[in-house]
Amino acid sequence: MRLYDSLRQEHVEVVPPDGVVRMYVCGITPYDTTHMGHARTYVVFDALSRFLEDRGCTVRYVQNVTDIDDDILRKARQLGVPWDELGRRETERFLRDMDALNVRRPTFYVKATDHIPMMQEIIQVLIDKGLAYVRKGNVYFDISRDPDFGKLAHMGYAEMLRTANERGNNPDDPHKDDPLDFVLWQAAQPGEPTWKSPWGPGRPGWHIECSAMAMQYLGAQLQIHGGGADLQFPHHECEIAQSENYTGVEPFAQAWVHVGMVYLGGEKMSKSLGNLVLVSDVLQRYSANAIRLALLGYHYRQPFGYSDEDVARAEAVVDRWQTALADDRSHNPSGSITAELLEHEAVAALEDDFNTPEAIRVMNRLVDAALAGAVDSPLVAARAIRRIGGSLGLSLPAGE
Ligand SMILES: [Zn+2]
Repeated sequence: MRLYDSLRQEHVEVVPPDGVVRMYVCGITPYDTTHMGHARTYVVFDALSRFLEDRGCTVRYVQNVTDIDDDILRKARQLGVPWDELGRRETERFLRDMDALNVRRPTFYVKATDHIPMMQEIIQVLIDKGLAYVRKGNVYFDISRDPDFGKLAHMGYAEMLRTANERGNNPDDPHKDDPLDFVLWQAAQPGEPTWKSPWGPGRPGWHIECSAMAMQYLGAQLQIHGGGADLQFPHHECEIAQSENYTGVEPFAQAWVHVGMVYLGGEKMSKSLGNLVLVSDVLQRYSANAIRLALLGYHYRQPFGYSDEDVARAEAVVDRWQTALADDRSHNPSGSITAELLEHEAVAALEDDFNTPEAIRVMNRLVDAALAGAVDSPLVAARAIRRIGGSLGLSLPAGE
């Protein structure tokens, strides 16, 4: 299938060398509740993995939990609970929300704190290769030694710096040679959890966590590396710099796949703006099928403006699909619409950069035809609805 690669900025054919698609998707930092922005990203990659399996691939899917991070430590201090307890609790809540949305668990669901040795191994190799430097117990990646740095960002230096600063970079760190150099290992701070290291006690930087977990489970090259669009820079840029310099293998991922942001009333849904729509609240009002269909009703790269009306409309659509599977009217084999053709059209849409809105439109045509008694083969129509519905991760009644 073809996917849009944010690095090359074009559609690329995803070619699993041995029939195995190695897919890594950046996971949550567990310090707060799951909102529709999370839901969209994980529903998209869940549906993508289901579709790849439908196409005969094996999907080895790794998703991480960033269970040590500034945000967790800050929130734990505010709440007066141990940081690891907060992480465990919020991870459980996230998984309950994902289960309720019919999002399958990844093949490997892994925590950053279980992979410190692999992170240290990568950091040491980067130091040995002259790409990282040690200052007062901190280790930084030296971007001046990597001419490729910035290749995913597609931005000039000033824009990279501004964007990085908005997303967690500290440009004023006096130990850095360049304000864009990023932390691989940070020296122990009073009251923070620390791990032993060759550079002194401390904890890993955020970016190195994902490089380590991706490579530990999937090797030097992935077919798909995914995440929200706000991770493209600096997080995924830094992952490329660390991973490709560590292994010497390029590209680290055949396709960098980024899911558009979720908006509410024209503003990006974000914790800082306080305009979050929580998954658990939406699930009180609508079915998981409707929420998934609403999210997948927009192409994954487009921004998604959340509205209850969209989900309500999706609920009606799912009802019609279910009716078509159950209703006698759709069992009349005398129609002129070729069900198999529409099935192929829907599959072709999904193969073309996972165009779920187009696949849904095609299925709606098939459902309308089936309910009007206008398809040539009700059996094939039912099979197609179940198949495409299955790739989108809808729970539909099983066939006979
Ligand atoms: Zn990541």
